[in-house]
Amino acid sequence: MLLSVQDLSVSFGGVHALNLSHFTLRDKELRVIIGPNGAGKSTFLDILCGKTKPDSGKVLFNETPVLGKTEVEIANLGIGRKFQKPSVFPSLTVYDNMLLAFKMKKSILASLFFKPTEEIDTRIREVAVKVGLITELKKVAGELSHGQKQWLEIAIVVLQDPKLMLIDEPAAGMSDEETEKTGELLMQLARHHGIIVIEHDMKFVEQIAKELVTVLVRGKLLVEGSFDEIRNDQRVIDSYLGRANVQLENF
Ligand code: ADP
Ligand code: MG
Repeated sequence: MLLSVQDLSVSFGGVHALNLSHFTLRDKELRVIIGPNGAGKSTFLDILCGKTKPDSGKVLFNETPVLGKTEVEIANLGIGRKFQKPSVFPSLTVYDNMLLAFKMKKSILASLFFKPTEEIDTRIREVAVKVGLITELKKVAGELSHGQKQWLEIAIVVLQDPKLMLIDEPAAGMSDEETEKTGELLMQLARHHGIIVIEHDMKFVEQIAKELVTVLVRGKLLVEGSFDEIRNDQRVIDSYLGRANVQLENF
């Protein structure tokens, strides 16, 4: 197992945000997590990348305990996180944003004197092709479309070459065409990385969920299954898909 989670629990002000009995992910698996707003999806990723400290539980990544480690230590173990809101540097070029992915691994002093090697330059261009930004490298990131900013963020995570990528709502605010391209990108990336994607858009989930889908509701694991099993599951329909915040026309 790439990732193995047991009895992971965290409360904020007495309210259980997450109370996850178990969760496992195989190497190079692409898992989609769905669930209503406030279900604890982002909190789960926050714990996995060390941003939030849980009250109790166990997380093993490649057999190594993760809890108690800092965000930097966890990133160095090979867990990369893309947050829900884009956080690229808008005044830097696409290329320089991507270069930062390499600088982040170094100390501040070393990063000041950092010069990209040919190898790094080649790698940046390779990843730029993959995410569809090769013609935009000289553009400042602030001028990218919303979808392109999301792809740049994914590129920055890919450049850190993590074994596990955590991706929170990548398709939010994207056009249908951008959403589909994002789906293709994630499926391509899953050939080399384990990926956990949180997503609301059920058309997008259908596109990328070729393996298991995990449904979280009120911090708990409601059910896990294939996309078809999930969409026909009465508990999922009652507690999630029946809600107004989900686009039902896809069903
Ligand atoms: P989701 O991503 O599934 O929409 P979240 O993980 O963001 O849900 O939130 C789960 C619950 O935990 C919500 O009730 C939210 O208000 C609460 N929560 C999340 N982060 C914090 C925090 N840092 N402080 C207090 N409450 C939080
Ligand atoms: Mg969230």
